[in-house]
Amino acid sequence: MIIAANLKTNLTRKQTSEYIEELENYLKKSDSTQEVLVFPATSSLDSFDGGVTVGAQNAYATKNGAFTGEIGLDHLDEFSIKTILIGHSERRHILGETQTTIIEKFNFYKNLGFKIVYCVGEPLEKREAGKDEMMEYISSQYEGIDTEYENLIIAYEPVWAIGTGLTPTLEDIQQIHSELKIKSKAPLLYGGSVKVTNAKEVLALENVDGILVGSAALYAEHFCSMISYADQLTNKQER
Ligand code: PEP
Repeated sequence: MIIAANLKTNLTRKQTSEYIEELENYLKKSDSTQEVLVFPATSSLDSFDGGVTVGAQNAYATKNGAFTGEIGLDHLDEFSIKTILIGHSERRHILGETQTTIIEKFNFYKNLGFKIVYCVGEPLEKREAGKDEMMEYISSQYEGIDTEYENLIIAYEPVWAIGTGLTPTLEDIQQIHSELKIKSKAPLLYGGSVKVTNAKEVLALENVDGILVGSAALYAEHFCSMISYADQLTNKQER
């Protein structure tokens, strides 16, 4: 399974390095077989050795150039970063990133072979407008995206569930995931208020290949517990 942490605008460089060290210690001690991804704040990116894959929360579709406030490929290459989050709802809805910009980023980093965690999900008004409108909205976020890209991971994250403590029911998650699996065979993560208390039941659902966790992942101990749930479920399947 894929267990991913989006640290957003939290944890300084020093805190991030301590955080990753804690995860590395846990992975070694537990012999975990999970794929663990961590997306630190841009200023906390660095070279990290070990089992945790560090990715960028954002980068511009450029090698370098005159794009004030942005980073490009050169900055990721400096730390051998080959993983990126694209289309997160906070970038779409707070920072105003359009599908056109998102497609541009997607294609740029796809052509470089990056592992892309591509986020989709509906805002509350689309959910309340009914199933058809909701699915139509989510489908529009697949437009222009190569859903067969080999290094693609998709994260379904309902906007209204992110950072709110609200989540869809388990039945809803399972149902939406089974529909999204028809659009792309890529691993599909669920994200939106996943916590230690609900991670295991979400991970146990059919068509859920992992989780993308924001606030609850800020505590390394909680995030490690979620990795251990994935290990328990994986070991059970193997038996
Ligand atoms: C996220 O930002 O991707 C996320 C899932 O946040 P949270 O877990 O805080 O809802």
